[in-house]
Amino acid sequence: MPAAHDTVALRQPVDGGMRPMLIGGAWVGGASGNTLETRNPATGAVLARVPRGDQRDIDRAVAAARRAFEGPWSRFKPYERQVLLLKVADLFEKHWEEIAQSDTLDMGMPITRTRANRNRVIGMLRFYAGMATALNGETIDNSLAGDVVSYTRREPVGVVGAIIPWNAPAAASVWKIGPALATGCTVVLKPSEEAPLTPLLIADLMQEAGVPEGVVNVVTGTGSEAGAALAEHAGVDKLVFTGSTATGQSIVRASAGNLKRLSLELGGKSPVIVCADADLERAVPVAAMAVFANSGQICIAGSRLFVERSIHDDFVERVAAYARALRIGDGADPATEIGPLISARQLTRVEGFLDAGTREGARLVTGGTRLTEGALAAGHFVAPTVFADVSDSMAIAREEIFGPVISAMPFDTLEEAMTRANATPYGLAAGVFTRDVGKAHRLSRALRSGSVWVNTYHAIDPAVPFGGTGMSGYGREGGTEHLAEYLDTKAVFIRLD
Ligand code: NAD
Repeated sequence: MPAAHDTVALRQPVDGGMRPMLIGGAWVGGASGNTLETRNPATGAVLARVPRGDQRDIDRAVAAARRAFEGPWSRFKPYERQVLLLKVADLFEKHWEEIAQSDTLDMGMPITRTRANRNRVIGMLRFYAGMATALNGETIDNSLAGDVVSYTRREPVGVVGAIIPWNAPAAASVWKIGPALATGCTVVLKPSEEAPLTPLLIADLMQEAGVPEGVVNVVTGTGSEAGAALAEHAGVDKLVFTGSTATGQSIVRASAGNLKRLSLELGGKSPVIVCADADLERAVPVAAMAVFANSGQICIAGSRLFVERSIHDDFVERVAAYARALRIGDGADPATEIGPLISARQLTRVEGFLDAGTREGARLVTGGTRLTEGALAAGHFVAPTVFADVSDSMAIAREEIFGPVISAMPFDTLEEAMTRANATPYGLAAGVFTRDVGKAHRLSRALRSGSVWVNTYHAIDPAVPFGGTGMSGYGREGGTEHLAEYLDTKAVFIRLD
């Protein structure tokens, strides 16, 4: 494995130059000729410029995706799609260091984490490859319709629009493109304007693997231009979106024109419940990193920490001590545990919550400020922060911060913990720490969320469905349900007499 700050030769250099986007198998600029720059959030350096795609580019990409869907791609048999996906996975394996560095440079995630995402991302591709030949319909014997044979076919929905955020570009791209390739759909992917480089790299690798032209298209641009154009496009059959709840709502409205199908992976305000009987040695680092990982910029961040009153003060102090010891810096340094926030805008937003926490009467246990010492001044760094004496009504307990901020609160009974944990419009994830198997099951049942982790956090498996409920969205990624979202079911009746 490369040592500190080693870089592999990047097939797409980050020297501030132009990176075109991929439409219909060709690397192109945008119709307007306008560009966006993307910066390293740890240093402020401009990494590259990308086309600022708009409606016209989305039109071209959707047309290319439609041609591929109805043309050459429709003749790929499931077995051939499986072989192709396995080839893509092998190429990812070969180029993983470059993918990891691309994510680290463009969005700041520490290189140890982006490297460690290898199994997760490549595992997804291999899972989808495995599923490509298992997406069959069924034969249904029922006599009501007369002397007929009836069966179902599972057919690809068609052209899929995919819009992703910046906080995990490699994984988000694969979670959208992988199932499309497995099911026979085609894709127009719109990366976040904050971190477009890895999706472009991934598209490049897919081309090298032999994915036919037009099957995967990547249009870079802003949400209000390229994103909105994709969301309302009449030629898009399904839209898969990961991002904020507010944007998700605008996508629901934009989709109404052609009633395109939607999957929405949105925000969260996930609770972590620590019972007094928990293995605290284990719970402290996991509860801390449930929030601090990726500087809190994870949809599943366990940002509301409910701790049983008898251990509350001690536990919170131990989490704070853990926070103080974290090494903060440029994600490219393998010693870094916490990288920067993505942008000046996100920094301002997080600072607003830090101010609100103090103003509303929470007790700042540690952190609470931007970090500007030495090289940190060039980036958007915030100290891992723990607030205690938080009440359920405070903004820091209600709103998604998307920063490294824990809101700690004591509880007295399990019923109280359940009720307060569920008192949020979101429902993405939850954590439970206990040694009591009965409590683990009771809480897992009672918590209103798409995932519950007991004595662990962040566990994700390509074969296990992931997604939310309530204002965290609907639809699942991972597992067989994920593939079903890219398929339509057709019923066929054949009369026998
Ligand atoms: P965002 O909603 O601002 O942007 C997400 C994407 O949507 C970007 O590509 C953006 O360009 C695009 N977009 C913005 N406005 C649009 C519009 N009107 N029409 C179409 N597209 C538009 O979110 P973000 O700030 O990039 O990411 C952070 C959010 O994403 C957080 O709320 C986080 O919880 C959520 N998220 C959720 C999951 C999940 O799986 N549930 C995973 C990661 C992030």
